[in-house]
Amino acid sequence: MLDKVVIANRGEIALRILRACHSLGIRTVAVHSTVDRNLKHVAMADESVCIGPAPSAQSYLNMAQIIAAAEVTDAQAIHPGYGFLAENADFAERVEESGFIFIGPKADTIRLMGDKVEAIRAMKEAGVPCVPGSGGPLGDDPAENVRIAREIGYPVIVKASGGGGGRGMRVVQTEAALVNAIATTKAEAKAAFGNDMVYMEKFLENPRHVEIQVLADGQGNAIHLGERDCSMQRRHQKVVEEAPAPGITPELRAQIGKVCVEACIRIGYRGAGTFEFLFEDGRFYFIEMNTRIQVEHPVTEMVTGIDLIREQLMIAAGQKLSIRQEDIVLSGHAIECRINAEDPDTFMPSPGQVSHFHAPGGPGVRVDSHVYEGYRVPPNYDSMIGKLIVHGPDRETAICRMRVALSEMVVDGIRTNIPLQQRIMADVGFQQGGQNIHYLEKRLKEQKEKSLSIG
Ligand code: ADP
Repeated sequence: MLDKVVIANRGEIALRILRACHSLGIRTVAVHSTVDRNLKHVAMADESVCIGPAPSAQSYLNMAQIIAAAEVTDAQAIHPGYGFLAENADFAERVEESGFIFIGPKADTIRLMGDKVEAIRAMKEAGVPCVPGSGGPLGDDPAENVRIAREIGYPVIVKASGGGGGRGMRVVQTEAALVNAIATTKAEAKAAFGNDMVYMEKFLENPRHVEIQVLADGQGNAIHLGERDCSMQRRHQKVVEEAPAPGITPELRAQIGKVCVEACIRIGYRGAGTFEFLFEDGRFYFIEMNTRIQVEHPVTEMVTGIDLIREQLMIAAGQKLSIRQEDIVLSGHAIECRINAEDPDTFMPSPGQVSHFHAPGGPGVRVDSHVYEGYRVPPNYDSMIGKLIVHGPDRETAICRMRVALSEMVVDGIRTNIPLQQRIMADVGFQQGGQNIHYLEKRLKEQKEKSLSIG
Protein backbone atom coordinates (compact mmCIF):
# COMPACT_ATOMS: atom_id res chain seq x y z
CA MET A 1 0.00 0.00 0.00
CA LEU A 2 1.02 3.60 -0.39
CA ASP A 3 2.59 5.28 2.59
CA LYS A 4 1.96 8.99 2.09
CA VAL A 5 -0.16 10.89 -0.43
CA VAL A 6 -0.22 14.56 -1.41
CA ILE A 7 -3.77 15.81 -1.96
CA ALA A 8 -3.44 18.35 -4.77
CA ASN A 9 -6.88 19.85 -4.45
CA ARG A 10 -9.17 21.72 -2.06
CA GLY A 11 -12.69 21.71 -0.65
CA GLU A 12 -14.94 18.71 -0.42
CA ILE A 13 -12.92 16.45 -2.71
CA ALA A 14 -9.71 17.05 -0.74
CA LEU A 15 -11.57 16.00 2.40
CA ARG A 16 -13.04 12.98 0.62
CA ILE A 17 -9.56 11.86 -0.53
CA LEU A 18 -8.17 12.40 2.96
CA ARG A 19 -10.85 10.17 4.45
CA ALA A 20 -10.14 7.39 1.94
CA CYS A 21 -6.39 7.64 2.66
CA HIS A 22 -6.82 7.56 6.42
CA SER A 23 -9.16 4.58 6.24
CA LEU A 24 -6.36 2.71 4.46
CA GLY A 25 -3.74 3.87 6.95
CA ILE A 26 -2.12 6.18 4.39
CA ARG A 27 -0.68 9.43 5.72
CA THR A 28 -1.73 12.65 4.03
CA VAL A 29 -0.20 15.94 2.97
CA ALA A 30 -2.59 18.83 2.32
CA VAL A 31 -1.33 21.49 -0.06
CA HIS A 32 -3.24 24.74 0.07
CA SER A 33 -3.28 28.38 -0.95
CA THR A 34 -2.97 31.22 1.57
CA VAL A 35 -6.75 31.77 1.73
CA ASP A 36 -7.32 28.06 2.30
CA ARG A 37 -5.41 27.68 5.58
CA ASN A 38 -8.70 27.11 7.36
CA LEU A 39 -9.94 24.27 5.20
CA LYS A 40 -11.16 21.31 7.20
CA HIS A 41 -8.85 18.77 5.54
CA VAL A 42 -5.83 20.99 6.16
CA ALA A 43 -6.47 20.68 9.88
CA MET A 44 -7.02 16.93 9.60
CA ALA A 45 -4.04 16.10 7.37
CA ASP A 46 -0.83 14.69 8.86
CA GLU A 47 1.11 17.51 7.24
CA SER A 48 0.28 20.62 5.27
CA VAL A 49 2.21 22.84 2.89
CA CYS A 50 1.20 26.30 1.70
CA ILE A 51 1.86 26.35 -2.06
CA GLY A 52 1.05 29.93 -2.95
CA PRO A 53 -1.43 32.81 -2.98
CA ALA A 54 -5.16 32.58 -3.65
CA PRO A 55 -5.22 32.68 -7.48
CA SER A 56 -5.27 29.06 -8.71
CA ALA A 57 -2.63 29.79 -11.35
CA GLN A 58 -0.17 30.43 -8.53
CA SER A 59 -1.27 27.62 -6.21
CA TYR A 60 -3.48 24.71 -7.25
CA LEU A 61 -2.24 24.93 -10.85
CA ASN A 62 1.38 25.47 -9.88
CA MET A 63 2.97 22.17 -10.89
CA ALA A 64 6.44 22.91 -9.59
CA GLN A 65 5.14 23.89 -6.14
CA ILE A 66 2.99 20.79 -5.81
CA ILE A 67 5.81 18.48 -6.83
CA ALA A 68 8.14 20.32 -4.44
CA ALA A 69 5.61 19.72 -1.65
CA ALA A 70 5.76 15.99 -2.41
CA GLU A 71 9.55 16.15 -2.29
CA VAL A 72 9.87 17.99 1.02
CA THR A 73 7.33 15.77 2.75
CA ASP A 74 8.78 12.58 1.31
CA ALA A 75 5.42 11.52 -0.11
CA GLN A 76 5.01 8.75 -2.64
CA ALA A 77 2.02 9.75 -4.68
CA ILE A 78 -0.13 12.71 -5.72
CA HIS A 79 -3.93 12.60 -5.97
CA PRO A 80 -5.21 15.40 -8.23
CA GLY A 81 -8.95 15.14 -7.39
CA TYR A 82 -11.07 16.75 -10.12
CA GLY A 83 -10.64 20.09 -11.90
CA PHE A 84 -7.31 21.94 -11.53
CA LEU A 85 -4.54 19.59 -12.77
CA ALA A 86 -6.55 16.36 -12.78
CA GLU A 87 -6.67 16.07 -16.56
CA ASN A 88 -3.41 17.79 -17.37
CA ALA A 89 -1.20 15.27 -19.18
CA ASP A 90 1.92 17.42 -18.72
CA PHE A 91 1.38 17.42 -14.96
CA ALA A 92 0.91 13.64 -14.84
CA GLU A 93 4.12 13.28 -16.84
CA ARG A 94 6.09 15.64 -14.61
CA VAL A 95 4.85 13.89 -11.48
CA GLU A 96 6.01 10.51 -12.78
CA GLU A 97 9.29 11.89 -14.12
CA SER A 98 9.96 13.32 -10.66
CA GLY A 99 9.62 9.82 -9.24
CA PHE A 100 6.13 10.04 -7.79
CA ILE A 101 2.99 8.09 -8.57
CA PHE A 102 0.25 10.05 -10.31
CA ILE A 103 -3.07 8.72 -9.01
CA GLY A 104 -4.80 8.46 -12.37
CA PRO A 105 -4.17 7.11 -15.85
CA LYS A 106 -0.88 7.31 -17.73
CA ALA A 107 -0.05 10.73 -19.19
CA ASP A 108 -0.50 9.37 -22.73
CA THR A 109 -4.06 8.26 -21.95
CA ILE A 110 -4.94 11.68 -20.52
CA ARG A 111 -3.43 13.32 -23.62
CA LEU A 112 -5.40 11.05 -25.95
CA MET A 113 -8.70 11.76 -24.22
CA GLY A 114 -8.00 15.51 -24.04
CA ASP A 115 -7.86 15.62 -27.83
CA LYS A 116 -11.49 14.98 -28.70
CA VAL A 117 -10.91 14.15 -32.35
CA GLU A 118 -8.34 11.52 -31.36
CA ALA A 119 -10.47 10.29 -28.47
CA ILE A 120 -13.48 9.73 -30.71
CA ARG A 121 -11.28 7.98 -33.28
CA ALA A 122 -9.85 5.67 -30.60
CA MET A 123 -13.29 4.95 -29.17
CA LYS A 124 -14.78 4.20 -32.58
CA GLU A 125 -11.96 1.75 -33.20
CA ALA A 126 -12.70 0.15 -29.85
CA GLY A 127 -16.33 -0.34 -30.84
CA VAL A 128 -17.84 2.42 -28.69
CA PRO A 129 -20.91 4.01 -30.36
CA CYS A 130 -20.24 7.66 -31.26
CA VAL A 131 -22.35 10.54 -32.56
CA PRO A 132 -22.47 10.51 -36.39
CA GLY A 133 -19.91 13.09 -37.44
CA SER A 134 -16.96 14.18 -39.53
CA GLY A 135 -14.80 11.45 -38.02
CA GLY A 136 -11.82 13.80 -38.06
CA PRO A 137 -10.81 17.47 -38.11
CA LEU A 138 -12.52 19.80 -40.57
CA GLY A 139 -10.33 21.14 -43.37
CA ASP A 140 -10.39 24.54 -45.04
CA ASP A 141 -12.43 23.59 -48.10
CA PRO A 142 -15.93 25.09 -47.63
CA ALA A 143 -17.48 22.83 -50.28
CA GLU A 144 -16.15 19.74 -48.54
CA ASN A 145 -17.48 20.92 -45.15
CA VAL A 146 -20.89 21.63 -46.67
CA ARG A 147 -20.86 18.10 -48.10
CA ILE A 148 -19.99 16.59 -44.70
CA ALA A 149 -22.79 18.54 -42.99
CA ARG A 150 -25.32 17.44 -45.63
CA GLU A 151 -24.32 13.87 -45.15
CA ILE A 152 -24.72 14.14 -41.34
CA GLY A 153 -27.95 16.12 -41.68
CA TYR A 154 -28.85 19.41 -39.95
CA PRO A 155 -28.73 20.54 -37.23
CA VAL A 156 -25.02 19.91 -36.70
CA ILE A 157 -22.66 21.02 -33.93
CA VAL A 158 -19.15 22.32 -34.58
CA LYS A 159 -16.85 21.51 -31.66
CA ALA A 160 -13.27 22.39 -30.75
CA SER A 161 -11.04 19.34 -30.45
CA GLY A 162 -9.25 20.91 -27.49
CA GLY A 163 -12.43 22.26 -25.89
CA GLY A 164 -13.75 21.62 -22.41
CA GLY A 165 -16.14 22.86 -19.77
CA GLY A 166 -18.93 23.30 -22.29
CA ARG A 167 -16.97 25.91 -24.25
CA GLY A 168 -15.93 25.94 -27.91
CA MET A 169 -19.14 24.60 -29.45
CA ARG A 170 -21.61 26.03 -31.94
CA VAL A 171 -24.90 24.60 -33.17
CA VAL A 172 -25.64 25.15 -36.86
CA GLN A 173 -29.24 24.87 -38.04
CA THR A 174 -28.90 25.61 -41.75
CA GLU A 175 -26.40 25.37 -44.55
CA ALA A 176 -26.30 29.17 -44.94
CA ALA A 177 -24.76 29.53 -41.49
CA LEU A 178 -22.23 26.69 -41.73
CA VAL A 179 -19.13 28.23 -43.24
CA ASN A 180 -19.19 31.24 -40.94
CA ALA A 181 -19.88 29.10 -37.90
CA ILE A 182 -16.83 26.94 -38.60
CA ALA A 183 -14.62 30.00 -39.02
CA THR A 184 -15.88 31.57 -35.78
CA THR A 185 -15.52 28.37 -33.76
CA LYS A 186 -11.99 27.91 -35.12
CA ALA A 187 -11.01 31.47 -34.16
CA GLU A 188 -12.52 31.07 -30.69
CA ALA A 189 -10.86 27.71 -30.18
CA LYS A 190 -7.50 29.16 -31.18
CA ALA A 191 -7.88 31.99 -28.67
CA ALA A 192 -9.25 29.86 -25.83
CA PHE A 193 -7.37 26.57 -26.21
CA GLY A 194 -4.41 27.50 -28.44
CA ASN A 195 -5.60 24.92 -30.97
CA ASP A 196 -7.95 25.70 -33.84
CA MET A 197 -8.82 22.13 -34.73
CA VAL A 198 -12.59 21.66 -34.95
CA TYR A 199 -14.84 18.76 -35.91
CA MET A 200 -18.51 18.28 -36.69
CA GLU A 201 -21.20 16.09 -35.19
CA LYS A 202 -24.91 15.56 -35.56
CA PHE A 203 -26.62 17.80 -33.00
CA LEU A 204 -28.92 15.61 -30.95
CA GLU A 205 -31.96 17.66 -30.00
CA ASN A 206 -33.37 15.94 -26.93
CA PRO A 207 -30.70 13.73 -25.42
CA ARG A 208 -30.17 12.72 -21.84
CA HIS A 209 -26.70 12.69 -20.28
CA VAL A 210 -25.91 9.16 -19.15
CA GLU A 211 -22.39 8.17 -18.16
CA ILE A 212 -20.69 4.90 -17.28
CA GLN A 213 -18.25 4.59 -14.36
CA VAL A 214 -15.29 2.30 -14.91
CA LEU A 215 -12.36 1.03 -12.87
CA ALA A 216 -9.29 -0.49 -14.51
CA ASP A 217 -5.97 -1.58 -13.07
CA GLY A 218 -3.82 -1.07 -16.16
CA GLN A 219 -2.89 -4.75 -15.89
CA GLY A 220 -5.57 -6.07 -18.18
CA ASN A 221 -8.52 -5.97 -15.77
CA ALA A 222 -11.47 -3.60 -15.97
CA ILE A 223 -15.03 -3.44 -14.69
CA HIS A 224 -17.95 -1.05 -14.98
CA LEU A 225 -20.10 0.12 -12.07
CA GLY A 226 -23.23 0.99 -13.97
CA GLU A 227 -24.42 4.40 -15.03
CA ARG A 228 -25.39 7.81 -13.71
CA ASP A 229 -27.96 10.18 -15.14
CA CYS A 230 -26.72 13.77 -15.09
CA SER A 231 -29.32 15.39 -17.32
CA MET A 232 -30.32 18.10 -14.82
CA GLN A 233 -27.93 20.77 -16.06
CA ARG A 234 -27.67 24.52 -16.27
CA ARG A 235 -25.21 25.98 -18.76
CA HIS A 236 -23.72 22.50 -19.26
CA GLN A 237 -23.06 22.32 -15.51
CA LYS A 238 -24.56 19.35 -13.70
CA VAL A 239 -26.92 20.29 -10.85
CA VAL A 240 -28.43 16.93 -9.79
CA GLU A 241 -27.10 13.45 -10.52
CA GLU A 242 -28.56 10.03 -9.87
CA ALA A 243 -27.87 6.33 -10.14
CA PRO A 244 -29.17 4.22 -11.71
CA ALA A 245 -30.51 6.23 -14.67
CA PRO A 246 -34.30 5.97 -14.94
CA GLY A 247 -35.38 3.54 -17.65
CA ILE A 248 -32.01 1.93 -18.36
CA THR A 249 -32.68 -1.80 -18.38
CA PRO A 250 -30.20 -4.33 -17.00
CA GLU A 251 -29.65 -5.56 -20.57
CA LEU A 252 -28.85 -2.08 -21.90
CA ARG A 253 -26.56 -1.45 -18.92
CA ALA A 254 -24.71 -4.71 -19.40
CA GLN A 255 -24.34 -4.05 -23.12
CA ILE A 256 -22.93 -0.51 -22.91
CA GLY A 257 -20.92 -1.41 -19.82
CA LYS A 258 -19.23 -4.24 -21.67
CA VAL A 259 -18.33 -1.95 -24.54
CA CYS A 260 -16.70 0.50 -22.09
CA VAL A 261 -14.81 -2.26 -20.30
CA GLU A 262 -13.47 -3.59 -23.58
CA ALA A 263 -12.39 -0.08 -24.60
CA CYS A 264 -10.55 0.31 -21.27
CA ILE A 265 -8.64 -2.90 -21.80
CA ARG A 266 -7.84 -2.00 -25.37
CA ILE A 267 -6.36 1.41 -24.51
CA GLY A 268 -4.63 0.11 -21.37
CA TYR A 269 -6.69 2.35 -19.13
CA ARG A 270 -5.63 2.67 -15.49
CA GLY A 271 -7.68 4.05 -12.59
CA ALA A 272 -11.20 5.40 -12.29
CA GLY A 273 -12.79 6.87 -15.39
CA THR A 274 -16.09 7.89 -16.91
CA PHE A 275 -17.44 7.40 -20.40
CA GLU A 276 -19.88 10.23 -21.06
CA PHE A 277 -22.72 9.51 -23.46
CA LEU A 278 -25.69 11.33 -24.86
CA PHE A 279 -28.66 8.96 -24.74
CA GLU A 280 -31.49 9.43 -27.20
CA ASP A 281 -34.21 7.08 -28.46
CA GLY A 282 -32.71 4.16 -26.58
CA ARG A 283 -29.21 4.60 -28.04
CA PHE A 284 -25.90 5.69 -26.54
CA TYR A 285 -23.59 8.16 -28.30
CA PHE A 286 -20.11 8.67 -26.83
CA ILE A 287 -19.09 12.32 -26.36
CA GLU A 288 -16.02 12.19 -24.16
CA MET A 289 -14.09 10.31 -21.50
CA ASN A 290 -13.15 11.87 -18.17
CA THR A 291 -9.89 10.43 -16.92
CA ARG A 292 -10.40 11.26 -13.24
CA ILE A 293 -12.76 10.87 -10.31
CA GLN A 294 -15.91 12.92 -10.86
CA VAL A 295 -17.92 15.20 -8.61
CA GLU A 296 -20.90 12.84 -8.86
CA HIS A 297 -19.01 9.65 -7.96
CA PRO A 298 -20.90 9.23 -4.61
CA VAL A 299 -24.17 8.16 -6.24
CA THR A 300 -22.33 5.20 -7.76
CA GLU A 301 -20.73 4.46 -4.39
CA MET A 302 -24.13 4.44 -2.71
CA VAL A 303 -25.71 1.95 -5.11
CA THR A 304 -22.66 -0.34 -5.42
CA GLY A 305 -21.23 -0.08 -1.90
CA ILE A 306 -17.79 0.47 -3.42
CA ASP A 307 -15.45 3.24 -2.26
CA LEU A 308 -14.13 4.56 -5.56
CA ILE A 309 -11.32 6.66 -4.09
CA ARG A 310 -10.09 3.66 -2.12
CA GLU A 311 -10.01 1.71 -5.38
CA GLN A 312 -8.05 4.54 -7.04
CA LEU A 313 -5.48 4.35 -4.25
CA MET A 314 -5.14 0.56 -4.47
CA ILE A 315 -4.73 0.68 -8.26
CA ALA A 316 -2.10 3.42 -7.88
CA ALA A 317 -0.28 1.19 -5.40
CA GLY A 318 0.02 -1.37 -8.20
CA GLN A 319 -2.59 -3.79 -6.94
CA LYS A 320 -4.75 -5.79 -9.30
CA LEU A 321 -8.49 -5.10 -9.26
CA SER A 322 -9.96 -7.22 -6.49
CA ILE A 323 -13.57 -6.70 -7.58
CA ARG A 324 -14.96 -8.78 -10.42
CA GLN A 325 -17.80 -7.69 -12.68
CA GLU A 326 -20.13 -10.24 -11.13
CA ASP A 327 -19.48 -8.70 -7.69
CA ILE A 328 -21.11 -5.46 -8.81
CA VAL A 329 -24.72 -5.55 -7.67
CA LEU A 330 -26.76 -2.37 -7.83
CA SER A 331 -28.94 -1.76 -4.83
CA GLY A 332 -31.65 0.90 -4.60
CA HIS A 333 -31.41 4.44 -5.90
CA ALA A 334 -29.11 7.36 -5.06
CA ILE A 335 -29.43 11.08 -5.78
CA GLU A 336 -26.90 13.86 -5.35
CA CYS A 337 -27.68 17.57 -5.10
CA ARG A 338 -24.74 19.90 -5.58
CA ILE A 339 -24.81 22.64 -2.96
CA ASN A 340 -23.40 25.89 -4.32
CA ALA A 341 -22.69 29.20 -2.63
CA GLU A 342 -24.79 31.17 -5.07
CA ASP A 343 -28.05 33.04 -5.32
CA PRO A 344 -30.80 30.48 -6.06
CA ASP A 345 -32.49 32.79 -8.55
CA THR A 346 -29.73 34.82 -10.22
CA PHE A 347 -26.95 32.21 -9.81
CA MET A 348 -24.51 34.95 -8.79
CA PRO A 349 -21.74 33.52 -6.56
CA SER A 350 -22.22 34.28 -2.87
CA PRO A 351 -18.93 33.92 -1.02
CA GLY A 352 -18.54 34.93 2.63
CA GLN A 353 -18.65 33.61 6.14
CA VAL A 354 -20.95 30.75 7.08
CA SER A 355 -22.51 31.94 10.34
CA HIS A 356 -24.47 28.79 11.04
CA PHE A 357 -24.15 25.30 9.57
CA HIS A 358 -26.26 22.27 10.20
CA ALA A 359 -25.82 19.06 8.21
CA PRO A 360 -28.86 16.83 7.74
CA GLY A 361 -28.87 13.18 8.81
CA GLY A 362 -30.96 10.06 9.01
CA PRO A 363 -31.06 6.79 7.10
CA GLY A 364 -29.36 6.92 3.71
CA VAL A 365 -28.16 10.53 4.05
CA ARG A 366 -24.56 11.48 3.25
CA VAL A 367 -23.01 14.94 3.32
CA ASP A 368 -19.72 15.44 1.48
CA SER A 369 -18.74 18.96 2.49
CA HIS A 370 -15.82 20.85 3.97
CA VAL A 371 -18.08 23.55 5.41
CA TYR A 372 -18.28 24.19 9.16
CA GLU A 373 -19.65 26.98 11.29
CA GLY A 374 -17.48 30.06 10.90
CA TYR A 375 -15.90 28.85 7.65
CA ARG A 376 -15.35 31.61 5.12
CA VAL A 377 -16.09 30.66 1.49
CA PRO A 378 -13.39 32.44 -0.53
CA PRO A 379 -14.40 34.17 -3.79
CA ASN A 380 -11.47 32.67 -5.69
CA TYR A 381 -12.72 29.21 -6.57
CA ASP A 382 -15.68 27.22 -7.78
CA SER A 383 -18.86 27.98 -5.86
CA MET A 384 -19.64 24.35 -4.94
CA ILE A 385 -19.44 24.01 -1.15
CA GLY A 386 -20.60 20.45 -0.82
CA LYS A 387 -22.83 17.67 -1.98
CA LEU A 388 -25.88 16.20 -0.36
CA ILE A 389 -26.35 12.56 -1.29
CA VAL A 390 -29.21 10.26 -0.37
CA HIS A 391 -29.82 6.58 -0.91
CA GLY A 392 -33.07 4.66 -0.67
CA PRO A 393 -34.56 1.35 -1.75
CA ASP A 394 -36.17 3.04 -4.75
CA ARG A 395 -36.21 6.40 -6.56
CA GLU A 396 -39.36 7.64 -4.87
CA THR A 397 -37.94 7.03 -1.40
CA ALA A 398 -34.66 8.66 -2.42
CA ILE A 399 -36.52 11.79 -3.55
CA CYS A 400 -38.46 11.87 -0.25
CA ARG A 401 -35.26 11.53 1.74
CA MET A 402 -33.65 14.29 -0.31
CA ARG A 403 -36.58 16.62 0.31
CA VAL A 404 -36.39 16.05 4.07
CA ALA A 405 -32.60 16.38 4.07
CA LEU A 406 -32.71 19.64 2.10
CA SER A 407 -35.30 21.04 4.52
CA GLU A 408 -33.04 20.14 7.46
CA MET A 409 -29.87 21.60 5.98
CA VAL A 410 -28.90 25.04 7.30
CA VAL A 411 -26.19 27.19 5.70
CA ASP A 412 -26.60 30.73 7.03
CA GLY A 413 -24.55 33.82 6.30
CA ILE A 414 -24.28 33.18 2.56
CA ARG A 415 -26.83 32.38 -0.10
CA THR A 416 -27.02 28.84 -1.44
CA ASN A 417 -28.92 26.99 -4.15
CA ILE A 418 -30.77 24.86 -1.55
CA PRO A 419 -34.12 26.53 -2.46
CA LEU A 420 -33.50 25.67 -6.13
CA GLN A 421 -32.76 22.05 -5.25
CA GLN A 422 -35.99 21.94 -3.24
CA ARG A 423 -37.92 23.19 -6.25
CA ILE A 424 -36.30 20.54 -8.46
CA MET A 425 -37.17 17.74 -6.02
CA ALA A 426 -40.78 19.00 -5.89
CA ASP A 427 -41.05 19.23 -9.68
CA VAL A 428 -43.44 16.72 -11.23
CA GLY A 429 -41.30 16.32 -14.34
CA PHE A 430 -38.21 15.52 -12.29
CA GLN A 431 -40.24 13.10 -10.22
CA GLN A 432 -41.30 11.31 -13.41
CA GLY A 433 -37.62 10.86 -14.26
CA GLY A 434 -35.80 10.54 -17.55
CA GLN A 435 -35.93 14.22 -18.56
CA ASN A 436 -33.46 15.48 -21.18
CA ILE A 437 -30.53 17.88 -20.76
CA HIS A 438 -32.64 20.94 -21.67
CA TYR A 439 -35.36 20.27 -19.13
CA LEU A 440 -34.00 22.27 -16.18
CA GLU A 441 -33.25 25.40 -18.20
CA LYS A 442 -36.65 25.21 -19.82
CA ARG A 443 -38.37 25.00 -16.42
CA LEU A 444 -36.25 27.83 -15.01
CA LYS A 445 -37.23 30.02 -17.94
CA GLU A 446 -40.92 29.19 -17.48
CA GLN A 447 -40.76 29.96 -13.77
CA LYS A 448 -39.00 33.26 -14.40
CA GLU A 449 -41.63 34.33 -16.93
CA LYS A 450 -44.39 33.28 -14.56
CA SER A 451 -42.97 35.19 -11.61
CA LEU A 452 -42.45 38.23 -13.82
CA SER A 453 -46.03 38.18 -15.05
CA ILE A 454 -47.33 37.81 -11.48
CA GLY A 455 -44.94 40.39 -10.09
P1 ADP B 1 -17.10 19.58 -22.72
O1 ADP B 1 -15.80 18.85 -22.65
O2 ADP B 1 -16.89 21.03 -23.01
O3 ADP B 1 -17.97 19.32 -21.54
P2 ADP B 1 -18.77 17.76 -24.30
O4 ADP B 1 -18.39 17.18 -25.60
O5 ADP B 1 -18.80 16.86 -23.13
O6 ADP B 1 -17.86 19.05 -24.04
O7 ADP B 1 -20.19 18.43 -24.46
C1 ADP B 1 -20.76 19.22 -23.42
C2 ADP B 1 -22.25 19.31 -23.58
O8 ADP B 1 -22.61 19.89 -24.86
C3 ADP B 1 -22.98 17.98 -23.56
O9 ADP B 1 -23.24 17.54 -22.25
C4 ADP B 1 -24.25 18.33 -24.30
O10 ADP B 1 -25.12 19.05 -23.46
C5 ADP B 1 -23.78 19.27 -25.38
N1 ADP B 1 -23.41 18.53 -26.62
C6 ADP B 1 -22.19 18.15 -27.00
N2 ADP B 1 -22.22 17.46 -28.17
C7 ADP B 1 -23.52 17.41 -28.53
C8 ADP B 1 -24.25 16.84 -29.65
N3 ADP B 1 -23.62 16.17 -30.64
N4 ADP B 1 -25.59 16.99 -29.67
C9 ADP B 1 -26.23 17.65 -28.68
N5 ADP B 1 -25.63 18.22 -27.62
C10 ADP B 1 -24.29 18.11 -27.53
